[in-house]
Amino acid sequence: MKLIILDRDGVINHDSDAFIKSPDEWIPIKGSLEAIARLNQAGYRVVVATNQSGVARGLFDIQTLNAIHQKMHNAAQQVGADIDAVFFCPHSADDNCDCRKPKPGMFHEVAKRFSISLRGGVATVGDSLRDLQAGYVAGCAPYLVLTGKGEKTQAKGGLPPGTLVYPDLSAVVDFILKSPVGVSV
Ligand SMILES: [Mg+2]
Ligand SMILES: [Zn+2]
Repeated sequence: MKLIILDRDGVINHDSDAFIKSPDEWIPIKGSLEAIARLNQAGYRVVVATNQSGVARGLFDIQTLNAIHQKMHNAAQQVGADIDAVFFCPHSADDNCDCRKPKPGMFHEVAKRFSISLRGGVATVGDSLRDLQAGYVAGCAPYLVLTGKGEKTQAKGGLPPGTLVYPDLSAVVDFILKSPVGVSV
């Protein structure tokens, strides 16, 4: 089974320092949903793992988060893309949960849900260091995109070993679909 784990804000949709608090504020990055469709066509299941501490901060509730994800699913479907599942951490850093990235809890949940090991070259794509750290610890191959916070993340350095850097999700997908890395046969 081929699987890829994506961060949401700054990878699929435009990020905001003020948080994405409503469906109206969720706006896809050009080409990201089409890139997910290309993954699907190549046999990949696509899942999202996203920190959403805005819930813990009281900026939006779970129903609103679900509505945002419904908008994302609908927009994906319009271009023939399918996002299999969205794993989210609603906690704040103070909650000390196991799911908030850079902890790998959500990645372990993904592995459990799909009954696969992430250590066989499953790719993860993020724009923040903590996305890549969580994925790396869980055994994924980390990809940094320069959308969202990606340029700042690259400038700060300290990326996990083996991190590959691409301009955006579409470029990552171009690479993955051309490369034998991460393709199970
Ligand atoms: Mg992000
Ligand atoms: Zn959490």
